[in-house]
Amino acid sequence: MSIAQRYLREREALDAACEQSGRDPEDVLLLAVSKTVGPDGVREAYEAGCRDFGENRPDQLVQKAQAFPDANWHFIGNIQSRRIPDIVAHAGLIHSVHTLRHAQKIDSTASKLGKVQDILIEVNASGEESKSGVSASDAQELLMACVELPNVRVRGLMTMAAQGDLTAALKSFVSLRELESELIEALKPGEARDSLNQLSMGMSEDWREAVEAGSTMVRIGRAIFSDDFE
Ligand SMILES: *Cc1c(COP(=O)(O)O)cnc(C)c1O
Repeated sequence: MSIAQRYLREREALDAACEQSGRDPEDVLLLAVSKTVGPDGVREAYEAGCRDFGENRPDQLVQKAQAFPDANWHFIGNIQSRRIPDIVAHAGLIHSVHTLRHAQKIDSTASKLGKVQDILIEVNASGEESKSGVSASDAQELLMACVELPNVRVRGLMTMAAQGDLTAALKSFVSLRELESELIEALKPGEARDSLNQLSMGMSEDWREAVEAGSTMVRIGRAIFSDDFE
């Protein structure tokens, strides 16, 4: 199977899973995580209709976003402070913000570029020590500080589930959705509350569980770009 065929297979499976969970397929974005391929691999998915791509390294983000400026580029990786200018210049959405220090630097960088940067707050919903993200109990404090930043707009939450245990993954995803509802309740009515409605959760192995739990963005890498993923 080619990348294009695997992309179309995943998109069809995603549409079917949405229908099974009573969800509108238009409400779940398929983000193709192209971190393991070069621009040629991106082109194959692009030509098959994919318009949203995720990268976890700033250099790759810059290179591919310049090559495919019509696509939407998402930064999903670990943030290093000194790379924030490159990330803000090229990412429509940054999924992996989990410290106020990074949010503040994103805000000042976005201000210089004359943009409002959309971000997600990454939450360590599984509680595993090896996973990054703010703890569920600290998420509200971080959110309240971020909504005060004029050039940052918090669009929702992101998480990575523990691998290899779909029951545990589903539990993490449901807890992220519940946390988001609580956070929305805690915000004053207005713009910040209205724009917070995204849940970035689910990868090649566990996106079905994520869709069932209410994901609005699944981040699929290997199932599209690797020929040994079944
Ligand atoms: C690599 C990566 C993905 C995609 O993972 P696959 O298992 O290849 O689908 C999703 N999210 C993040 C944050 C990643 O780093």
